[in-house]
Amino acid sequence: MTTETIAGVSRPVPTDLLIGGKWVAGSGGDRFDVTDPADGTTLCTVADATAADATAAIDAAYAVLPELAAMPPRRRAEILRTAFEVMTERLDDIALLMVRENGKALADAKAEATYAAEFFRWYAEEAVRIDGNYTTARAGTNKFLVTRQPVGVALLITPWNFPAAMATRKWGPAIAAGCPTILKPAAETPLTALLIAEILTDAGLPAGAVNVLPSSKAAPISETALADFRVRKLSFTGSTKVGQGLLKLSADNVVNTSMELGGNAPFLVFADADLDAAVDGAMLAKLRNGGEACTAANRFYVEESIADRFADKLASAMGSMSMGRGDDDGVKLGPLVNEATVDKVDRLVKDAISGGARALVGGQRPDGAGFFYPATVLVDVPEEADCLTEEIFGPVAPIVSFSSESEAVRQANDTPYGLVAYLYTGDLGRGLRVSESLECGMVGINRGVISDPAAPFGGMKQSGIGREGAHDGLLEFLETKYVAFTP
Ligand code: NAP
Repeated sequence: MTTETIAGVSRPVPTDLLIGGKWVAGSGGDRFDVTDPADGTTLCTVADATAADATAAIDAAYAVLPELAAMPPRRRAEILRTAFEVMTERLDDIALLMVRENGKALADAKAEATYAAEFFRWYAEEAVRIDGNYTTARAGTNKFLVTRQPVGVALLITPWNFPAAMATRKWGPAIAAGCPTILKPAAETPLTALLIAEILTDAGLPAGAVNVLPSSKAAPISETALADFRVRKLSFTGSTKVGQGLLKLSADNVVNTSMELGGNAPFLVFADADLDAAVDGAMLAKLRNGGEACTAANRFYVEESIADRFADKLASAMGSMSMGRGDDDGVKLGPLVNEATVDKVDRLVKDAISGGARALVGGQRPDGAGFFYPATVLVDVPEEADCLTEEIFGPVAPIVSFSSESEAVRQANDTPYGLVAYLYTGDLGRGLRVSESLECGMVGINRGVISDPAAPFGGMKQSGIGREGAHDGLLEFLETKYVAFTP
């Protein structure tokens, strides 16, 4: 087993592939670099999985399926509960590892590690709540027995923005349901998943139940897995573009899919809102994780009469965010994950400014090492600006004003995405009415954060199919079987 010592992390971090309960170098023997976004240096190297490793992982996962499916639900629950407890003891290590490989500020990393562990606790509690029913046919001639069984071997693919939570949000329900898993973490952030996989295997899962395949070449892994009839489930979190390709690949074998895709969240502020609360909520919705969140507020629509005051207050709050290495004292805004992300944010800001927008704060890419971009507030943003239609994925808040509730709803819905929306109002009736009109899977009324392991997370339109978290997330890994019989 190859491990690496990462500064600030108290235990060695595994850097091999995990296949069939063993840490292995992989069939190709190649390794790839993991980069520290704060200075662009190489943190360490990780084993690079190939298509042959994907097949080995499927062999191992398929072999353990009967044992995992037959494992008493209470035992699966105990394993998840142990993983929750160990993860909770090691929160600081997990948080610091995310600071190193993702760049996020330490407070964001600690919040994510806590949230991530909660998925193990929640699904420990859900594993024993897999139900069925027994009833009589309407004609009285026979009986119906309805049970739920694990879908089967599950391919899990996760993004780099929440390296811990996106993995546990899939592992928790998959294990609770009795599905063996093959996780492909993002190439930028494989270390956190490897560290948590070690916790899961130590918690008592049989060999093959958790396989992890970091890779610099994602396509051969997904093509191999989705062409293999033994893989019955794809749970993907990432961009809509990659998700669309994976849905096409899943079609041939009619693989059961759960897709958590991109967002373009509107944040509506009505004139009757508590303005200070709206600014606090905007800071959370925009700057949690430095803006690198699918739930990040992407577009701010503010009622005309308060638009200038809201913009000034938000610019003042955003301007006070100190930027730097994620675990340096007082730092609230870390670097973005890589250079391509900074290039994209910079392009979107320049495009808006060339169309007539003004930066009240930020708006200039800094010189020097690392992948930094400052907190930025844009006003007078033209309706055709790319930052209103594309996912920004950075600390930039474009503000547009509206004059009526119907105009606000029209602008909010004018996108192919539909993950989450936020709205601030002093009128709960309006809040509920507008929530019903918004074309998205989740709405925060007078709240800038909506994520909770016990709540169903997911999107409409091109933001996804299915839900994670809650009991709904467990059902995504279960098949319903109906048995008709005459007693
Ligand atoms: P991404 O580029 O779509 O990558 C996501 C994952 O897919 C990574 O592991 C990536 O591997 C992998 N991948 C890329 N091409 C693939 C292929 N052909 N076959 C199999 N896997 C492939 O997304 P990202 O940049 O990591 O993450 C940001 C996106 O995720 C944003 O759009 C964000 O909104 C979305 N997101 C959505 C949610 C949600 O719950 N709805 C949550 C978080 C993030 P590599 O790293 O090797 O490219």
